[in-house]
Amino acid sequence: MQSLALAPAASGRVTPLQRGCGALKAAGPALSVPRARRLRVQAFQEGPAAPAPAAAKPAAKPAAAAEKKEVDHIPLVLEELKTKKKVLIAQTAPAVRIAIGEELGLGPGVNATGKMVAALRRLGFDYVFDTLAGADLTIMEEGFELLERLEGLVARRTDVPPLPMFTSCCPGWIGFVETCAPEIIPHISTCKSPHMMVGAVLKTYFAEKINRRPDEISVVSVMPCVRKQAEADRMMFHTPDASAREVDHVITTKDLSKLCQEQGIDFASLPDEEFDEFLGIGTGAAALFGTTGGVMEAALRTVYDVVTGEKLERVNWDPVRGLEGTKEASITIAPNPEGPLHNTEPVTVNIAVANGLGNAKKLLKAVQEGQKEYHFIEVMACPGGCIGGGGQPRSKDKEILQKRQGALYSVDERKVLRRSHESPVVQQLYDEFLERPNSHKAHELLHTYYVPCGPEKFDINAPPEEMVSPVATCTLDLGLDTVCDPAQHHEICQVDDGNPHSDTEPPAAPNALHAE
Ligand code: SF4
Repeated sequence: MQSLALAPAASGRVTPLQRGCGALKAAGPALSVPRARRLRVQAFQEGPAAPAPAAAKPAAKPAAAAEKKEVDHIPLVLEELKTKKKVLIAQTAPAVRIAIGEELGLGPGVNATGKMVAALRRLGFDYVFDTLAGADLTIMEEGFELLERLEGLVARRTDVPPLPMFTSCCPGWIGFVETCAPEIIPHISTCKSPHMMVGAVLKTYFAEKINRRPDEISVVSVMPCVRKQAEADRMMFHTPDASAREVDHVITTKDLSKLCQEQGIDFASLPDEEFDEFLGIGTGAAALFGTTGGVMEAALRTVYDVVTGEKLERVNWDPVRGLEGTKEASITIAPNPEGPLHNTEPVTVNIAVANGLGNAKKLLKAVQEGQKEYHFIEVMACPGGCIGGGGQPRSKDKEILQKRQGALYSVDERKVLRRSHESPVVQQLYDEFLERPNSHKAHELLHTYYVPCGPEKFDINAPPEEMVSPVATCTLDLGLDTVCDPAQHHEICQVDDGNPHSDTEPPAAPNALHAE
């Protein structure tokens, strides 16, 4: 067993900040965030300074309602499947495969990947790809973005985006940030979410491979999420030549289940089929994206290997597993002389995971008030992460989240490849197309930017004559003095996310983080 935990064995309650300072004395330059670059407490207010809520602003809607997809894309998808005017590609998120069977004759927590692929082919899709490939790509881009920010902190550079860095793959979280906490936009990873990365790759690299124009391809994402359509509709999410959207339609797990029933597909009797080649391969790390703590665990696997130059024998990171409201840990990593951070002594990195928007708000407040200091924070807006997304089947099973989460852990454990950087898809993409993580091309295709109050959205019923939004590659370019007035969105900021774990406080004592 290889232990990475170097948290000092202090008596009593020790904060991550104190632990980081202990590591600094013991092991060289701890990654203490300079006070001037810490998150500022300003627009995110829950105290007396906050403006009067709902009564004064009756027009505002709760976040869940405000971001629900307004156009029903199922008829549009059915029309495309019927007319066959385009190459039709489906991609499926990790959390879909372990819930799709619940309404189709399989039990809860059953991994129905093969039947799901077969069902999508029966519906008429030309290709069925795995969003896991996009999750692996996300880990590469996000992991190297974190390393760049850490290197910037160690070198005391001011031209590098600040820490802590928050994950960006959850549109529920991004919607909250843009609307209620725009001052933390520079702290959000610029990575697109996995299905948007897949869409970007399909409409460029893959389009070239199959000799098609981007607008001759239609990408349909099957997601556990009711907010992914609004994400795909962000006006900046189009191909570099502005000829096509990266993802055309998003349907949910429940939508796919309904489609199967309406089309008379006997799901439970379908044979297991494989994803199509190329973007059909995903690692175990990528499967973990479907549950709270999974992005963090996947990122740690890659960051550890890349920085140390060593390969972890056992890759489960227990402190970020489970369904607790907030999880935190510290790892100390000794850099390889030839890798990232190579000029530094061993560094201690503090990480946290917020399960549900309520916990994210509390964690953010603690960080903004200086009670907590982290370098990397994962946030998922739904209880349990995407396994508990609004597009998943409703269940009366009180243990449903545990069962779905256990199924995803099992998907991970059964994979031969469990680290994103080992994915042959990732390696081929960088070799043939993207050059290296965070290259100019990778930024152009796989990264994005955020807009206070949210960006303009693509209206499929009234598409713009041309999509001309610039592709920004760095949030530092944003004029953050133009932040929106949070008073206008106070109801959204205060909305209850329905997460039963949201009342839990951030942990007061650190967990030791072990690689088993
Ligand atoms: S956690 Fe919820 S809102 Fe966020 S991506 Fe997953 S399903 Fe969507």
